Amino acid sequence: INKLNFKVLITDPVDQYMLKTLQSYGLMVDYKPEMSREELLKVIGNYQALVVRSRTKVDKEVIQRGINLKVIARAGIGLDNIDTEEASKRNIKIVYAPGASTDSAAELTIGLLIVAARRLYDSMNMAKGGIFKKIEGVELAGKTIGIIGFGRIGSKVAKVCKALDMNVIVYDVIDVREKANMIGVKVAESLEDLLKVSDILSFHVTVGKDAKPILNDSTFKIVKDNAIIINTSRAAVIDGKALLKYIDEKNLTYATDVLWNEPPKEDWEMKLLRHERVIVTTHIGAQTKEAQRRVAVVTTNNLIEALKEIGVL
Ligand code: NAD
Repeated sequence: INKLNFKVLITDPVDQYMLKTLQSYGLMVDYKPEMSREELLKVIGNYQALVVRSRTKVDKEVIQRGINLKVIARAGIGLDNIDTEEASKRNIKIVYAPGASTDSAAELTIGLLIVAARRLYDSMNMAKGGIFKKIEGVELAGKTIGIIGFGRIGSKVAKVCKALDMNVIVYDVIDVREKANMIGVKVAESLEDLLKVSDILSFHVTVGKDAKPILNDSTFKIVKDNAIIINTSRAAVIDGKALLKYIDEKNLTYATDVLWNEPPKEDWEMKLLRHERVIVTTHIGAQTKEAQRRVAVVTTNNLIEALKEIGVL
């Protein structure tokens, strides 16, 4: 393949750095940050590389219609919007930006944690409406937070929680004992053991496209009454319908940056959204100037490396 006929399509908003750098290598880049799915399916066959964030779903159909695709770049971390199996069948390389948004996502997590514990959302809303009423929350110091997924973001969150004098217990599917020792947090023997003791749960796992929910009808039973659940990873880690049932049964609070459908569309999803103990942000975990810049730099570098490997550059 020659770079003169190598075309890159970008279908989600990315930092200008990426466009400029790719163009400086002499590549043709089409920047269509709001492209619809219908449009994408129509034009994807003309491109050798596709760059997306989390909005664009790169499923089997998109990949199959992308007959000329050589590389898919995800400007971010989660690969759950990409059918990686289908891509690997076709030998399409996938590049992304692990680590680039760790600090931003961890900071948002702590934000949601404090908003939920002190009911800041209700207090702020009342104050804006001219109602000056005191609202009682709970203190975080001395509470136990269970961190599920002790990777980059999970371990940063753990460090901050330690500084807040919380008890931190973590659970992961890989052996994280050494890392836990270094930070000084406990490792749970099993998910059940973690759920039993946690006043607060925070999810930081990576999920594939067919991942099964970690909190479902049976595991919700073990969650403590009045627990606060924070989710800045992916909605798929929780069975939404089960949450709708247990949120009232157990007086849970759910603070999340991610939804099952973004924007939401199912009835049960709308019902959850409107629940008084559900706090939602609009998938802004990586949405800071610093993280977006870093994501663009890392993704661009990885994309350029991939193009060198396949002999385009
Ligand atoms: P990471 O790969 O560094 O860590 C993920 C950890 O989860 C790994 O240690 C892995 O072993 C563990 N894990 C995987 N499946 C598990 C399971 N079923 N149970 C327990 N542990 C499991 O990833 P990261 O960079 O920390 O990112 C974590 C999550 O945050 C990802 O899902 C990512 O998509 C999400 N994220 C969201 C935003 C946002 O905008 N809200 C921004 C950045 C990252």
